[in-house]
This record gives sequence, C-alpha cells and structure tokens, in this order.
Amino acid sequence: MATDLAVLARRVDRTHGVTRLGPDQQVDDKAFVIPPSDLGRTDPFLVLSEDWFSSPGFDWHPHRGIETVTTVLEGALEHGDNRGSAGVLAPGDVQWMTAGSGIIHRELAFRDEHAHTLQLWVNLPSRLKMVPSRYQDLSAAAQPAVTAPGTSVSVISGSAGPAGGLVTGPAENHWPITGGRMTIEPGSALTQVLPARDRAFVYVLSGQVTIGGRSLRGGEVAWSDPVGGEGDSTLELHAADGDEVVSAMLFSGQPIGEPVVAGGSFVMNTEDEISQAFEDFHSGKFGDIPRQARLKYR
Ligand code: MN
Repeated sequence: MATDLAVLARRVDRTHGVTRLGPDQQVDDKAFVIPPSDLGRTDPFLVLSEDWFSSPGFDWHPHRGIETVTTVLEGALEHGDNRGSAGVLAPGDVQWMTAGSGIIHRELAFRDEHAHTLQLWVNLPSRLKMVPSRYQDLSAAAQPAVTAPGTSVSVISGSAGPAGGLVTGPAENHWPITGGRMTIEPGSALTQVLPARDRAFVYVLSGQVTIGGRSLRGGEVAWSDPVGGEGDSTLELHAADGDEVVSAMLFSGQPIGEPVVAGGSFVMNTEDEISQAFEDFHSGKFGDIPRQARLKYR
C-alpha cells in the first residue's frame, strides 16, 4: 500500500552568476562557480572551480580534511597520487578523491593538451577529517542514467529517479551527498528527489531553465537551503521552450555546521589543525612526493 507522506517542494533561495578569474600560473582560464567566500551559505560545499588548462596544470600538491569531486567536461585529465592511483579521465568521467588524513596528487592535462574540468570541494565533519585517503574513479559508463521523455540524469552519488524507481550512483560517501549531471530538452521537466535536510545547488551549464520557480540561464547557480525534517523533498526543473537543451549539474548534502579554517589545500576546524597539517606534510607524514613518469599515449 502506498504511504501518503507529504513531500516538501523546494524553492530556490538565491541565485548568482560565476566569478570569472582568468588565467593564472597553473591554468589558461578559471572561474569560481561557487566562490569560497560564503561558507555559511554553501556548507557542506566549500568551492566549485571551473578550470581550463594545458600546461602546467596542478602539479604535485597535498590535501587534508576534504573530498574533491572532479568532473571532466572536455579534453582529458591525467591524474596520479601517492597511493598509487593513476589514469586518464575522459569527458563525463568523475573522480571522487577523499583526501582525509592526507594525500599528495597531481591533476594535469593529458599530454599537456587540454582539460576543462569542474572541481567541487566537499567538506568533511571533524570526526571524518582524518579518515584514510581514498580514490574512486566514477567513469561515465559506471554512472547509471535515469531517463524519461526529454530528460536524462547521470547519477554520480546518492539517488535520482521517479518515486519508487530511484537509481543509486556509484560513489561511496563518508558524508552523504547526492550528485549528478542532467540534460533536459526544451519544454521538458524533471523532478529530483532530495533529502529534506540537504542544501542543494544547481549549476546551469547551458540552456534556460526554471528551477523551484526561478528562471536561470547558462552560467548561473541556484541554491536551495534545507527544508527541514528527515523526509524527502523535491526540486522541480523545467526547461524553457525553444531549441536549447539544458545541461546542468546538481549536488546536495546536509550542512555540517562546524567552524571551517582553510590553509593552502587543507581544510580543518581550527588554526592549530592547519599548522599541524603543514607540519605533517613537511615532515613526510603524508608520504613522499611520487617520482611517477607522465602517462604515455597508448
Ligand atoms: Mn588537488
């Protein structure tokens, strides 16, 4: 017998555009889709960076206390880390790296050619910041697709799909996150079920779409704050009529609600923990910086 629970319809609480940063010493071009400047309103997400790079990219560097979720949009991303993971990711592929207690890795354009990526930093609560590091390759082929007329969702983490037919993505989570990429044909609509306690954002890559009653176009971000309770909620996305397909990325997670102190590529709860992270990295507690050769063309 169907249970008749009231499912809360989400609204969009605020929207903003991306912050174009331009080239720097690592990348050819960069934008903050989510700038790391309003953490109380983006928690559990810290930053979402969109990068276009060729050479040098992001050579060996450490992380602690977070997870990085990197989606390849165009080109090819070569990565390696000091746990022995190495490979090349193609468009649609996602890597979910748990830095936890410490990892040293690099993120480069394969053959120094071109990579266009979206990298989301997901915070971890105090009790999980020092979990062992972990690397997950979530290839496009491993992401189940939920399709309905005019819509498709590639599920990366958590669940998507119609009521009673939820499909779960391949990511293993320390802190539960729902995430996926979606396309919506003009005039079509999609309802995404999300935990009511989550904060959600949608980054519209292209097209024009009404989300929770607010109209957005490519290059804009919509935020939906927690609506309370332990149950489910829904977020409605409706593509405008016309000829432009909507492409968007959606993530949600429960706010952690702890102090955030960042230093370099470490994100902890206190200044002392940041000092400790630098000390541990420089004294070799993260392990050695690998002397791995670049991957060869096959
Ligand atoms: Mn990194």
